[in-house]
Amino acid sequence: MTMIANSVGAADPTQTRMEEMNDAPSHPAADVDELVFIATTDIAARTKGRSMRLADFEESTSLGWVPANLGIGSLGHIVDDIPYGSTGDLRLKPDLASLARLDGIPGRPPLSIVFADLVNTDGTPWESCPRTFLRDAVEQLRTEFGLTTRCSFEHEFVDRTAKGDHHPFSLQAFRRAEPIGSKLMTVLSRAGLEPETWLPEYGRHQYEITVAPADPVTAADRAILVRDIVYDLFDAHGREASFAPVVAPGEAGNGVHVHFGLDDKDGNTVIYDPSRPGRLSKLAGSFAAGIIKYGPAMAALFAPLATSYQRLAPHNWSTARAFLGLQNREALLRICPTNEIDGRDPSRQLHFEFRGGDIGANPWILLGLILRAGAQGLRDELETPEIVVGELDLDDKHAHLPKLPRNLEEALAVLKDDEVVSGWFSPAFLATYEAIKHDEFASVQARSLAEQCEVYARVY
Ligand code: GLU
Ligand code: MG
Repeated sequence: MTMIANSVGAADPTQTRMEEMNDAPSHPAADVDELVFIATTDIAARTKGRSMRLADFEESTSLGWVPANLGIGSLGHIVDDIPYGSTGDLRLKPDLASLARLDGIPGRPPLSIVFADLVNTDGTPWESCPRTFLRDAVEQLRTEFGLTTRCSFEHEFVDRTAKGDHHPFSLQAFRRAEPIGSKLMTVLSRAGLEPETWLPEYGRHQYEITVAPADPVTAADRAILVRDIVYDLFDAHGREASFAPVVAPGEAGNGVHVHFGLDDKDGNTVIYDPSRPGRLSKLAGSFAAGIIKYGPAMAALFAPLATSYQRLAPHNWSTARAFLGLQNREALLRICPTNEIDGRDPSRQLHFEFRGGDIGANPWILLGLILRAGAQGLRDELETPEIVVGELDLDDKHAHLPKLPRNLEEALAVLKDDEVVSGWFSPAFLATYEAIKHDEFASVQARSLAEQCEVYARVY
C-alpha cells in the first residue's frame, strides 16, 4: 500500500488502478525503484515531463513546469519572439485516470506514465494547455449539443533500419519485424491500450498499429503512448522507427488517421440514417460540413511539418482535397464501411475517419480541432457537404473540390486569416505556434527535400 492508495476513497476506480500498479511485481531484471513519468505533450508533439519515485507519488502530487517550454519547436530549441519568457511558472497536474504502466521493453525497467493538465500555480487551467483544449472541446460538445464521441487513432510508421525488399502486407514483412511486433501488442495490451491490429503496410518497411476506441481524452492519451512505446521498443532492439509524414522523397506517407463516431449522452449513435445520402443523419452531415469547411484553415495544425504537404497530395491515399468521401481514401473525411456479415447491425458501426493528420500534430489538439470544427458546423446548421462517391476525378468531375494549402507557410497564412479557427486558441498559444512554425519552415526550406525528410525522420 502506498500513500496514494491510502488517501483515496474505496469507491474510486483510481484507487484500484494505483493499488494494482504499486502491487505489481517489480521487473525481475531491474533492481531499481519504479518511477512515474508525469507527462505533457506540446506544439512539437513530443512527450515531455518529469519523473519521481512511484512510491512518493500521491493523489495530490503536481510538479513544476515552465510556460516557455511550449516554445520548443520540432527542431528542439525554444524559438525567439514568443510571448513566454524566462519568468512564470506552471504545474503539471496529473490526471490519475490516465495512469498507465509500461512493462516488457527489453532492458528497461517498468515505468508508470500519467498525463498532466497544465495549470497555473493556483490550480486554474493554463490558457495554452493542449490537453485542456481537447477537454474543453469535449465539454462544449456535451453541454451545447448533448453529444459524446468515441475515437481511436491509427498510426503508420517505418522501420528505418529494416533491410531487404518489402512486399506490401506480406507475411514476410510481418515476420521480419518479430519479435518486436508481438512484444508491441503485449506491451500495449498490458498498459491497457487495447491494441486491435498490427500489420505490415503498403510502403517500404512500413507498419501500422491500431487500438480500440475510447472517450476522446483517453483516445488521444493512447495515441501519445502508442508512439512512445513504439520508439522505446524499436530503440531497445537497436532499431529505429519513424512516423515522419514522408521518410524519403517518393516513399509512401505515414498518416495518423482519427476514427470517431457521434453519440447522444446515453451512448446511442446519432450518425446513422439509412434514408439519407451516405447513410448520414442531418446532424452528422452538419458536423462533417464543419470539418470540411474549416479543413484548409486547420491544415497548419493537423499537417504542421514542412514535409506534411508531400503526403497531402492526390494518389497518396492520404488527402487529395478537402472533401467528404464515401469509403474514399483520398478524402479529408471518410465515411467508413460497415461490416454486415451475418446480419451485423451497421447503425452502431457507421463512423468517420479524419485522414489529414500526421505525427507532427499533437493528438490532443488534432482531436480538439476535429470536434470544434464539427461543433461549429452544427452551430451554423451547415448542410451535408457533397459526398464524393466512387473514384476521385480531379481533372473533371471533382475539379471544383476545395484545395488544401500547398505548403506550411501558406497553411499558416490561411490559419491566421480564419477568425473562427484562430479564435479557438489563446492569443499567446497562437503567437507561439506561429513563431515555432515560421522558424521551422525557414530553417528547413533552404534544404533539399531529401534533407528535409531526413531531419523530420530523425525527430519523429
Ligand atoms: N499511408 C497513407 C497515408 O499517408 C494511408 C494508407 C491507408 O491506410 O489507407 O495516410
Ligand atoms: Mg494504413
